[in-house]
Amino acid sequence: MTTSTVPEQGPAHGLAGSREILGSEGKEGLYTSVQARLDNAARALDLDPGIHAILRRPERELTVAVPVQMDDGSLVVFDGFRVQHSSVRGPCKGGIRYHPSVDLDETKALAALMTWKCSLVNIPFGGAKGAVRCDPSQMTRGELERVTRRYAVGIMPIIGPKNDIPAPDVNTGEQTMAWFMDTVSSMKGYTVLDTVTGKPVNVGGSLGRKESTGRGVAVIVGEILKANRKPVEGATVAIQGIGKVAIPAAQLLSSWGCKVVAVSDVSGGVYDPSGLDVPRLVVDLAERPGKLLADCFLSNCQRVTNEELLELQVDVLVPAAMENQITSANASAINAAFVVEGANGPTTPEADAILEYKGTTVVPDILANAGGVVVSYFEWVQGAQSYFWGADEVNNRLDEIMIRSFQDVLGTAGKQDASLRDAAYLLAVDRVARALTQRGIFP
Ligand code: NAD
Repeated sequence: MTTSTVPEQGPAHGLAGSREILGSEGKEGLYTSVQARLDNAARALDLDPGIHAILRRPERELTVAVPVQMDDGSLVVFDGFRVQHSSVRGPCKGGIRYHPSVDLDETKALAALMTWKCSLVNIPFGGAKGAVRCDPSQMTRGELERVTRRYAVGIMPIIGPKNDIPAPDVNTGEQTMAWFMDTVSSMKGYTVLDTVTGKPVNVGGSLGRKESTGRGVAVIVGEILKANRKPVEGATVAIQGIGKVAIPAAQLLSSWGCKVVAVSDVSGGVYDPSGLDVPRLVVDLAERPGKLLADCFLSNCQRVTNEELLELQVDVLVPAAMENQITSANASAINAAFVVEGANGPTTPEADAILEYKGTTVVPDILANAGGVVVSYFEWVQGAQSYFWGADEVNNRLDEIMIRSFQDVLGTAGKQDASLRDAAYLLAVDRVARALTQRGIFP
């Protein structure tokens, strides 16, 4: 760890004055936010307008109909999407989300975020995202399997280990990826291990992948505390969410001696100012039929709403659930000194400006939650070679990339008098823009 500190507090970071904040808290919020952040970086980098125009648009957008026979015999046609934002630095990479409100704009925004994330941590991938508009909480395992297999066939013409490699995201996981890989392999006639990442270890997954996003978040929490000369042991942390990102982050942070005081899910949150018993909570949650915190019985815990959790007096707040959680409506009530974005897009640009004014340091999503795509990259490499690494090798390489990327962002923020988010976008956009310029425009 170097001795550099985060940029000075206050309203006047170098890029803040010229930052354009568009109305990003409405229906198209996330897409508008992601574009505004690219535009700010383009302005600061004095990017060629043609290159900027290319980076504002996805390379390819596909919408597919996903007809599925439901268990009751009815036929439902779901909407599916796959957006490839950029393949300039390598194959497109990005998760698949199942959610009742997901749409093409959200998928486009998430695909662009993947481009900037892969560029920032300097792995040879571009960005993509996929989604099916459905409500998994209302579907059986068989219905989910049929949605997955039919969606996989729908997007097969544009994916593959050399051009676009999907992975899990919200409401999808190892089982989804196993079905996906099996479908593609069945269609091809041979097993294609490197067609998706985030698979179970038994069928070509990587050790450490399941925990990787949360592990990366925990590493970044540790780094931002250390950079500000705050002890990791005893630091108080509130985490919004208790899913694939939040659980390993909470487990690791509490094993390092942090006090994880609150976690939440769609059913609300639990809060214990003296620190939750995270290992017990995770076991208890897994045993509940609906796997919801509302059904858990935890002594000493207070019940809090998601809104209250975000406003708790803690050292670190980790939003690790959904986008647009910290907005102009609640940013001034955030009491954490540091916000480490486990989720994609949890803070709107309007909220960013308020937090920056208050002196709250935000570690952006494209850095903080990049651990998942880093180990997805390792899984893709291992699958292509059919040679698999031990857990320590995976975790050590992951930690090294996360810490190096954090130092890159911190250093750039210091040099440019920029916020950590602006610094991250400067690095990420510059790398992609340079690659585009070096490759030239075909034909
Ligand atoms: P998940 O489905 O495993 O968990 C999501 C959690 O958020 C659950 O606890 C759920 O109850 C909670 N949640 C959902 N809607 C909510 C709401 N409206 N209010 C409060 N809580 C709510 O998903 P995940 O994979 O943990 O993803 C969480 C976030 O992290 C997403 O933004 C995702 O894009 C991002 N992310 C995930 C990965 C990954 O590897 N899974 C990688 C990078 C970023």
